[in-house]
Amino acid sequence: MNRVIYEPDFDLSVVGSLEELQEQVAGCTRCNLRAGCTRVVFGEGNPGARLMLIGEGPGADEDRMGRPFVGKAGQLLDKILEAVGLERFTHTYIANVVKCRPPGNRVPRPEEAEQCLPWLYRQIELVSPKIIVLLGSTALQYLIDPQARITVMRGRWLVSKSGIKIMPTYHPAALLRDASKKRPVWEDFKQVKEAYLNLYLSQG
Ligand code: SF4
Repeated sequence: MNRVIYEPDFDLSVVGSLEELQEQVAGCTRCNLRAGCTRVVFGEGNPGARLMLIGEGPGADEDRMGRPFVGKAGQLLDKILEAVGLERFTHTYIANVVKCRPPGNRVPRPEEAEQCLPWLYRQIELVSPKIIVLLGSTALQYLIDPQARITVMRGRWLVSKSGIKIMPTYHPAALLRDASKKRPVWEDFKQVKEAYLNLYLSQG
């Protein structure tokens, strides 16, 4: 297993709960994306989930509703989770690399991700998952390695310095554009489900 460098560079340790963090993020203007979006999309799910999913950023539907993964890609994600016996609000917590919609759904710029990632890092610490699924190359490149390619890294377990198992896979939006990616994502989520079940077995 590769060892991943996972080093938060911004101290939000005084923020003691997800609710408190959400309040702070709601007022965030750390990058230019806030000026162009309707609302901040913080993330949602089971706050004690052992499985966390991390995507790229809000799209038009998410921006309108203030919730992550509610558009077509989100509906597909729900189906993928369901197919492996997981339910998003019961078993997962979902967030994105950036919490404000980039204009025209473009990829977040490095300076935007740099400003937003400390929020996500603290969110991860507060949820404290055992497994993280990185959905797409943006999450892979901003959280693991800017040079990493999702076509190479998907389906391969990584592990963070704190021991979180990390599985990169394709973003559901990529599956909507290219159906040939459905099979690999299915295989990746089967691995995730197996690891998830093993968490319980290892605890007796
Ligand atoms: S994208 Fe993140 S850093 Fe930028 S304004 Fe929104 S919450 Fe703040």
